[in-house]
Amino acid sequence: MKTSPPAGQVLRGTVHLEGFGLHTGSAAILDIEPAAQGRGRVFIRDDLPGRPEITAGIAQVHHRQQCTGLRQGKAEVLTVEHLLAALAGLGIWDAIIRLSGPELPILDGSAAPFVEALLRAGLRPGSIPSSFFKLMHPVQVQQDDSWIRLEPASSLELDGHLEFEHIMLQDQRFSFVFGQDDFARELAPARTFGFLKDEERLRKAGLAKGASLENAVVIDDFSILNPEGLRFANEFARHKVLDLLGDLSLLGKPLLAKVKSHKAGHGLHHDLIRKLSSESQEHKIVQMDQMSNDPLLMVCPPELHRA
Ligand SMILES: [Zn+2]
Repeated sequence: MKTSPPAGQVLRGTVHLEGFGLHTGSAAILDIEPAAQGRGRVFIRDDLPGRPEITAGIAQVHHRQQCTGLRQGKAEVLTVEHLLAALAGLGIWDAIIRLSGPELPILDGSAAPFVEALLRAGLRPGSIPSSFFKLMHPVQVQQDDSWIRLEPASSLELDGHLEFEHIMLQDQRFSFVFGQDDFARELAPARTFGFLKDEERLRKAGLAKGASLENAVVIDDFSILNPEGLRFANEFARHKVLDLLGDLSLLGKPLLAKVKSHKAGHGLHHDLIRKLSSESQEHKIVQMDQMSNDPLLMVCPPELHRA
């Protein structure tokens, strides 16, 4: 039986990637190494004195405009969502992520280069016991006309809907079901996107300094500026779902829920994971019995990854 969503995959080798940050434009050298079970996904800022650690957990979420930032003590990492989505999509929940620079490399703007590098390094599937965060009742967060609604489910289903006042993006949707759809092919390659009219405002705000047609889909008033066009007709909605997966993974384990998101961004994703964390006693941690692969409800209280 296919685990849905995947959990318990162990990284066998190491990954080395270099690039620059989308928002800061800073050089970024990234090395991902296997970690002991239960260590979680831990960033180490190799470029700072004392090499501080930053755990990918809810307590570390430090909201930044246009991306997800994590902060622990004085150390911060920016734009973690695409790498976290790649790890979650492949079922890797323990990894040491060494980073020289303040921001993850944007690479091609999607999670595909991370996924390809992690698969090249090798994975050992299902080699450790897995646990899941099982939603036990509906949950909703809302901000103006944006909302995210969750319902209990036996898998992770993500449905992203976006609406912009733009002729190409008035109504776009994508749904992804773990255990049924192919993460590496259907979700990981969807690139980040931005509007040309916002570029000057973002740059004045100190953002998008590294953005280009090499790492983002850029849209003017009527068309897509990238000469290669889109990877999927609904690439924008797919990328929203990818961002949602990365942010949800800050729970520290795979979520079992049906998640519908409407016009949501990182700010609302962060509200959602904080709400789930604050009411974690009302939900359940489900252990995967490796012999039968049947999820069994455990009576133990949930332990979220808050270290
Ligand atoms: Zn993104």
